[in-house]
Amino acid sequence: MRPILIHEVGPRDGLQAEATVVPTDVKLDWIRRVAASGVDIVQVGSFVRGDKLPQMADTDELFRILAKEHPRAVLSGLVLNEKGLERALEVGVPLICLGVSASDTHSRKNTGMGTDEAQRRIIATALAAKQAGRRVQVSVQSAFGCGFEGAIPEVRVLGIVAAYLDAGLTAISLADTAGHAYPEQVRRYVQQVLELDAAAEVTAHIHDTFGLGMANVYGAMEAGATAIETSFGGLGGCPFTKVAAGNVATEDLVHGLQRAGRRTDIDLPALIGVARDVATHFGRELPGRVHRAGPIQP
Ligand code: ZN
Repeated sequence: MRPILIHEVGPRDGLQAEATVVPTDVKLDWIRRVAASGVDIVQVGSFVRGDKLPQMADTDELFRILAKEHPRAVLSGLVLNEKGLERALEVGVPLICLGVSASDTHSRKNTGMGTDEAQRRIIATALAAKQAGRRVQVSVQSAFGCGFEGAIPEVRVLGIVAAYLDAGLTAISLADTAGHAYPEQVRRYVQQVLELDAAAEVTAHIHDTFGLGMANVYGAMEAGATAIETSFGGLGGCPFTKVAAGNVATEDLVHGLQRAGRRTDIDLPALIGVARDVATHFGRELPGRVHRAGPIQP
């Protein structure tokens, strides 16, 4: 069995949904600890305009500081447009993530562009990032359904995937932005991407809006996904979606994998410590389970 890579997106997907801005030094502490725990990738932030999303205004600064420290995990950053790419290249982001929403309504709310126009621009931007020598991951947001539009035709989702593959972009994340996915659907979509290109690296980005999050993650892994995007404590939710819920919790998935003898290289107590600190910071209970129950003693 191939190892499952863990891509921690809490510092971006989690924190962007919060009403308050987390101070840079607090973010740095959480990111450093997660990056040292043995998870593979940490998404530091999003290159969105600071006045539009103040929670992400320090993304450039975070990368500048972290670049000097050579963290154990690969650092990723979300780029939304050409200007964002310029900024990401300037601060040396090693893994650049970009995406298109399969829902025209979600796409317009998020970017001001419909899916087709957004797709053309994102592919061009992704290719420019690749040309600049960066690793690139492209995603299909609202791949499994949309809070505004409801069901999204499968052919529409696979059409975006096919366009990515045609452009030579083979690291593909299927994002359940609204949390509408169910395990059979996730399994089928992952399989279909791999049928289009057996060498594609498929990631699943799952929001646990309706309680199917972990089942969906396992559906993706069983169908051949090789990376999962999770967030500390299960924090998160897209601010541009209708009903926002967090991602599957990083420490919950690591717990599940470790019960099966997988990813025993990751420091689960360290991740639990971060999730607890995030919960304390926001002063509320987070949806993740393992940081509350504690690890099972061996
Ligand atoms: Zn998300």
